[in-house]
Amino acid sequence: MGSRATKHEGPRPARPRVEQAPVRLVVAERAARAARRGHPWVFRDALRPASRELPDSAGLPSGTVVELHDERGRFVARALYDADTPIGARLFTLAPDEPLDDALLVQRLARAFAHRDGLFADDLTDAYRLCHGEGDRLPGLVLDRYAELAVLRLDGGLWRPHTDRLRHLLVPLLRARGIEHLVLRAPGERQVLTHREPPDTLEVREHGVRFEVDVARGQKTGAFLDQRENRARVRALARGLGRVCNLFSYTGGFSLAAALGGAGEVVSVDVAGPAHEAARRAFALNDLDPGRHAFVTADAFAWLEAARARGERFDLVVCDPPSFAPSERAVPKALAAYRRLHAAALGVLAPGGTLCAASCSSHVRLEDFLGTLDDAVLPGRGLSVREVWGQPADHPTLAAWPEGRYLKFVVLA
Ligand code: SAH
Repeated sequence: MGSRATKHEGPRPARPRVEQAPVRLVVAERAARAARRGHPWVFRDALRPASRELPDSAGLPSGTVVELHDERGRFVARALYDADTPIGARLFTLAPDEPLDDALLVQRLARAFAHRDGLFADDLTDAYRLCHGEGDRLPGLVLDRYAELAVLRLDGGLWRPHTDRLRHLLVPLLRARGIEHLVLRAPGERQVLTHREPPDTLEVREHGVRFEVDVARGQKTGAFLDQRENRARVRALARGLGRVCNLFSYTGGFSLAAALGGAGEVVSVDVAGPAHEAARRAFALNDLDPGRHAFVTADAFAWLEAARARGERFDLVVCDPPSFAPSERAVPKALAAYRRLHAAALGVLAPGGTLCAASCSSHVRLEDFLGTLDDAVLPGRGLSVREVWGQPADHPTLAAWPEGRYLKFVVLA
């Protein structure tokens, strides 16, 4: 067996390897059933050691290969253990004879990359998600492409001992696609995994629209790639419109889409002033005069109230706030905040106008989100739900994993 660290082994650093003989853990019955239906996680409270002699799972280091068995001793899955998060094991395979080794990782990466090669064959988009963790059956592994640079984000602790191995597997696959730089981004940390110093900002294209991405400091891995198709939708909806308002505009993705679609004036509202500078540069990059549009640094709630009182009205309002619900417990408060926000947004919507309301919180289910847009919130307007969108195809999910379907984008008119 490999180097299984227990609580009693002292400070010797644990170095689990992907090919080591797996540690066996028992999964509670309900979790075993969910896993067999394709759920990619087992929470730690559903895990226990297979026998008394074996170490308590709490003593296992993150990244240990574990073999999960049900209470009757039957194989369930092979997984990587995570000591850092409440998700104790992230599952890689339900096939008893499939080892969790380099061949499996390379095969999954190659499949994920081939899927994107098909999606972006028109060469108009070079900023997209190359690997979407669980949805690409590589739990916890997120890889975003920004032109010649890729940003790797590893959730939890399961990949920590395998970073070097991943680098060896990834670099040749990326090079074959003309991606020269690989950067690992974790909260408060940035590590260059390739040889040359990469640029901090890059110019990328999305459906032919040019914008600048700050991969060193930007939100997420640099940009909100998951809204790409919804931005394209806003571009189409804005055709021939007069005024558009984009709330929580960040670097102006939806604003740019609306202006390129033909809206006469776009008002972008965000509390973060520096984000507007990036938005203005993006307008200029696409031959639009940012001077013809407004970029307001303000709290969206307060601004909506004042704008309504001034009698400002918009033909299209886009509302894409940050996640209001960081946890399941925060959901009721989040729903109340969405209701207030949507009611306030309605206050500036012109008669016959369109409202696009988004939520990126995985804890807020679509039905509950639609409840924050019902007739009680939008009184007397008779708005109906015209379209419901979610994540694009480069952010795939699993049928048995509702937690993965986090993005909601609802068009009402
Ligand atoms: N819609 C954006 C992403 C939004 S990210 C896009 O498509 O790229 C969330 C943004 O909300 C951040 O830029 C943050 O500065 C802003 N923000 C957070 N709270 C806010 C508030 N109360 N009022 C206005 N902006 C806010």
